[in-house]
Amino acid sequence: MFGYGRNNFTWNGTLRELKSSYPASCAERSRPIMTATASSSGLEVLLSTLQNAGDIESTLNILSVLDELLSAGTDRRIHYMISKGGSEALLTALVNTGRSFSPNFTLLLPLLHLLAKVGHRDRHIGLKAEEADAVLLTLNLLKQNSKHARRAAACLWVIQVFCSSVSTANLIGENRGLDAIYRLISPYTTKHLHTIKAAIDALAALLCTKANLCSAVSKGYISGLLRLYEDWHSKDIEHVAIGIRQALLRCLHQATHSTAGRQAFASQGGIRLLYQTTQTCLLTKGLESLVEPSVQLMRKCHPKTPLPLVSDRSVYSFPLPGRPDTNPDVDVGPDESCEESDDEEDEENQEADSKDKDYDDDLETDLNKLRRRPDPDRPKELLAQYSRLCPELTHDFQELGSGSEPEESSSSSSSSSSSSDEEALFLNSSPLHQPRRTRKRSNSRTDSSASSPGSPPEPQFSTGGCTQAAGQLEARDFHSHSNVLSSSPSFRTKGRQARGETTPGEKEELQDDEEEEEGEEAHHRTMVDRLLERHGACIPHHKPKLYRAAAAQTKSIPGFSILAFPDFWGHLPPPGHEPMVPRKPKVQRQKVFEDVQRFLNPDDIMNQVVFDLEDTSPQCLSDRPDSLRFFSKFECGNLRKAIQVRRYEYDLILNADANCSQHTQWFYFEVSNMVANVPYRFNIINCEKTNSQFNYGMQPVLYSVREALEGRPHWVRTGTEICYFRNHFCPARGRKRATFYTLTFTVTFKHNEDVCYLAYHYPYTYSALQAHLQVLQHLVDPAKVFFHQQALCTTLAGNVCPLVTITACPASRGWRDMHQLRNRPCIVLTGRVHPGESNASWVMKGTLEFLCSDDPVAQSLREAFIFKIIPMLNPDGVINGTHRCDLNGEDLNRQWCKPDPVLSPTIYHTKGFLYYLNSIGRTPQVFCDYHGHSRKKNVFLYGCSVKETLWQSGTAVDTVGLKEDPGYRTIPKTLDRIAPAFSFNSCNYLVEKSRSATARVVVWREMGVLRSYTMESTYNGCDQGIYKGLQTGTRELEEMGVKFCHSLLSVGRDVTALYSRKLINHIDLDHNVLDHKSHNCFEDDEPPCVEEIEYSTDGCPPLNGTELDSDVNGNTSSAEEEEEEDEGHKGANHSRGSICQSRPSSMKSRLFPHLIGQGSIETLNMKRKTCNGVSITNGQYLN
Ligand SMILES: [Zn+2]
Repeated sequence: MFGYGRNNFTWNGTLRELKSSYPASCAERSRPIMTATASSSGLEVLLSTLQNAGDIESTLNILSVLDELLSAGTDRRIHYMISKGGSEALLTALVNTGRSFSPNFTLLLPLLHLLAKVGHRDRHIGLKAEEADAVLLTLNLLKQNSKHARRAAACLWVIQVFCSSVSTANLIGENRGLDAIYRLISPYTTKHLHTIKAAIDALAALLCTKANLCSAVSKGYISGLLRLYEDWHSKDIEHVAIGIRQALLRCLHQATHSTAGRQAFASQGGIRLLYQTTQTCLLTKGLESLVEPSVQLMRKCHPKTPLPLVSDRSVYSFPLPGRPDTNPDVDVGPDESCEESDDEEDEENQEADSKDKDYDDDLETDLNKLRRRPDPDRPKELLAQYSRLCPELTHDFQELGSGSEPEESSSSSSSSSSSSDEEALFLNSSPLHQPRRTRKRSNSRTDSSASSPGSPPEPQFSTGGCTQAAGQLEARDFHSHSNVLSSSPSFRTKGRQARGETTPGEKEELQDDEEEEEGEEAHHRTMVDRLLERHGACIPHHKPKLYRAAAAQTKSIPGFSILAFPDFWGHLPPPGHEPMVPRKPKVQRQKVFEDVQRFLNPDDIMNQVVFDLEDTSPQCLSDRPDSLRFFSKFECGNLRKAIQVRRYEYDLILNADANCSQHTQWFYFEVSNMVANVPYRFNIINCEKTNSQFNYGMQPVLYSVREALEGRPHWVRTGTEICYFRNHFCPARGRKRATFYTLTFTVTFKHNEDVCYLAYHYPYTYSALQAHLQVLQHLVDPAKVFFHQQALCTTLAGNVCPLVTITACPASRGWRDMHQLRNRPCIVLTGRVHPGESNASWVMKGTLEFLCSDDPVAQSLREAFIFKIIPMLNPDGVINGTHRCDLNGEDLNRQWCKPDPVLSPTIYHTKGFLYYLNSIGRTPQVFCDYHGHSRKKNVFLYGCSVKETLWQSGTAVDTVGLKEDPGYRTIPKTLDRIAPAFSFNSCNYLVEKSRSATARVVVWREMGVLRSYTMESTYNGCDQGIYKGLQTGTRELEEMGVKFCHSLLSVGRDVTALYSRKLINHIDLDHNVLDHKSHNCFEDDEPPCVEEIEYSTDGCPPLNGTELDSDVNGNTSSAEEEEEEDEGHKGANHSRGSICQSRPSSMKSRLFPHLIGQGSIETLNMKRKTCNGVSITNGQYLN
């Protein structure tokens, strides 16, 4: 039986027996919702009784039992109680007790405490409280008892939990709740700390609504809270009330969730106050917990600053055919960029919350869309034009029969009848064979506008135009740093050395050159050429002069006339590996402090523009002897503006993608006039991605001209103090919600007055590709390798998009050999659709060189396949230094469903060519589009699988009957074995709706290519395999391109034949590769960054349940209500334990006054020890 008395608590049965203890009263008086039926559990009986019991003692008993039950277990018990109407029961009891004229606080206190604990875990407590009329009742109890610290605290906790509902919080606000609570937050004291903290927490909770926020700001609470924080900070010298200070920061964080709040914070000196208090906190042990919320508040309330630009629009604009030349800034409304709406953070939070959900929603679950091919996007008649792109099928290989010279066979393939005009022009004007005289003619020209901005693109090359451009380019090479080169003594010396030492063979050419040494430019060019002869490294597959000639034909929007030195000179991977750099602890905090100092002491900031892509007036470029000089007007260059902010610190602004105002990420610029051994801080302040591998060990790359001339032509990873975080800048105009991130890094240059280049990743220009293809064309053995370069089409700006065919020449012109050739399956490879993904080009370079090589595997692959390679799908984007888009401002890899023939010609024709292959029964066996991935490590593939997509989405579609060829996994499995940078576990084969217009999905679905992939290569490095912990270099990227070729052996039709040649030994190919499980990983798979990148979402964690429990439990002193007078001191003493450190609560009940005998509690404890626990689901002990 269940008996309960002051000193003899016994419980010798199960909770179930409670039913028989109180059956009558339940049946009579309970509300319908809480009716304890014959089948209800012990808990329900308790709850039912709680609402109906009249006498204080039995109610206290029930509260005690409930508290014990709930304290003993996990939150699951509380949630169970909530599901059984626990909250309603407590609210009813509260209303019943609190309504009386003179409420009995002996009963109310434990009731309120329990309600706080339970309500904190009940998401609907606010609405339930409103329904029960408990909200204003509690508020009135608070107002009437504001002098009674313990009572007030209990009411405050309950009010705090009620505020989980917006309408409840507003209800309290409308009834002067804010004032009542705010008044309870006193300046520094040692008394009633629990009550003060409860008031601060309740106020913070109330500020979750717009109306309350608005009201708090207009009443000047923010200023008040700041003064309170200052007071507690300065007087709490023993640091016993850190909890109060934390709560004040949390409350301020809540109060600054609106623009007005942030403005009030900043204008009331909040940033200065927090900066100063934080500096003292940093010096004091144990105050660390105050630093992070303070830093977050400073970042958040730092006034938004528009980027110092006239327009966010790219400096480079290009008139699109068929579209009016709009000035896009005109249609944007008045400048409201800084006027964020009050619910900005709310929305951001929602976005963050819904991220996971969105992902599964994005999976394509419509079986029809997954399986059925849509109709072709164009009439069949349009496909015939692509027959010219299969020269190997019509080529007669006459030279094989006639035994002619290899040279001739090469030229024969070049001048194949199917070649386009562009191609013929390109090859005829091959820079290798161009007479020097022709180029000299135009040296005197200084007008650089080969294609001036705004002029319509030339549809085709004209030979004369090319030559002129070549002349200009040569003459003006390195103009940007000619001062440095000629003024630097060591450069002069090298120039003289170069001029003085000539070999007999070069004599004629040099004499030729000397004739033109008239103007400075000519002199300069010669000097550079001589430096090249003297100091140029032997870089495989790179010829600087060939590069220069190729660049002369490249058409850019601004009409580039200057080459970046590294692209011209070439580079080799540095010897040895470059490990990822461990993040310096608290580096971001340090950088934020430096940024906050700018705000606090604006007079210390120089704010001197030292480079502006739009303003080329001399004073902008090189007037200041003490400043670094910047330059970016060259192919792939991207830097829009450089602003010196401190002596050794520069803010850099990147140029948006051409014809649009976003997608900043890629950078590549020249920097000179440096002082050696001085750390320079660079801040790229308009990055857009929400996170970056720069937070996970990646460094930018640097190329030093001086080092190159001294025989070390390397791009090296460089930079210290690197981090990436959200800053306070906003767009110059328009784009209301846009936020920016800062990439900051510090570079210490090795040499004085060097010329260096900094880039996001190893640059690879369009001209480099053109020159590289020329080199390969001349390198391959034409008797063995059919290497044929054609123009797929011209781009919007009039550049050629090359398509390369590589296969093996037939052994003879006999029918058998020709038949074998013409029946080889196709493999189509594409790359660099995203211009900022230069890593993709390095992988492609590895692929191309390998396929042209003498390697026996390459020979076998050529014999087994015809390779159709489009190495650069977005030449215009690459040339103009964009990150993501083409000149039409669109992401070309989202255009595949219905590409526009005029605006997306490369995609339109690539797709047309694939349709053509399809139509002649030559559907590619493999399609792979090479990309770079900025947020992940390793190299991996995305493929397409119906079954895996359906499984992952959890759809009800029955997949049992679905047949799917698992062959899409062969290549990734093979790569996992043979390619060190490759990670099978990062691959996946899911088809998402948001990617339905990508190459991979369209080629898979519309062309029926089973093995259709996106290959993603990291910008950073690997976290597995032999490269684990190392940053990737061009060597590793090129190796990946080779390994990809190796993996193609696994899909060859004649695999057995290949095996018989023992090629297996070459590549360690094994068909019994382990089966891996792919998983879902399109999102960032890095752990959260050690320092918060954002500042408006999770900067200040909300109060958690444990902390509230701990506070509530701390409120129960052994003192009787009558001893309230003394309670202050006791509370203060006690608070040293519970306010200072929010340790996990033991949940040990200290709720109940002496009325409940200690004996009964002990008995209950004893019971608990002898049993494994009480199952509150059925009231039974578990044994
Ligand atoms: Zn990409």
